[in-house]
Amino acid sequence: MVDVAIKILQKNGYRITKQRQSLLKYLSGFRDQYVDITTVDEYLHQLYPGMSHNTIYRNLKEFDEMGIVEQRTKNGSTMVKYQCDFVHQHHHHFICRRCGQVQELKMCPMDFFAEQLPGCQIEGHHFELYGLCSKCASLVKNSKK
Ligand SMILES: [Zn+2]
Ligand SMILES: [Zn+2]
Ligand SMILES: [Zn+2]
Repeated sequence: MVDVAIKILQKNGYRITKQRQSLLKYLSGFRDQYVDITTVDEYLHQLYPGMSHNTIYRNLKEFDEMGIVEQRTKNGSTMVKYQCDFVHQHHHHFICRRCGQVQELKMCPMDFFAEQLPGCQIEGHHFELYGLCSKCASLVKNSKK
């Protein structure tokens, strides 16, 4: 199901090439998990050997700007996942450090911080929770018995 993403591309004047379709289809498999962009690049380059790495990275950047994917950088590597919320785009994540599962958090705590910084202009924020998802937490608990 990449219909929403295709509509966004069309609205922004992008052609729906088979390369973009394959990229979307692949990324849509990463809805609750991040994937390294080098993995995405390798996959697409294998499908379309004629597609340059630059083009692949540019496509990912455009997808990010249009809100089709979400990006994060960790330890110097950039990771990407399919947008988990096309309706309320601004949200945060809880990420399981064991299995990598991403859960969407609807709440943004920024109003709370803005109150503590009177007169300041906050220009952006990154906010992420991490730990063990319920499945991993119970696995870890059971293995300790
Ligand atoms: Zn998300
Ligand atoms: Zn987990
Ligand atoms: Zn926020």
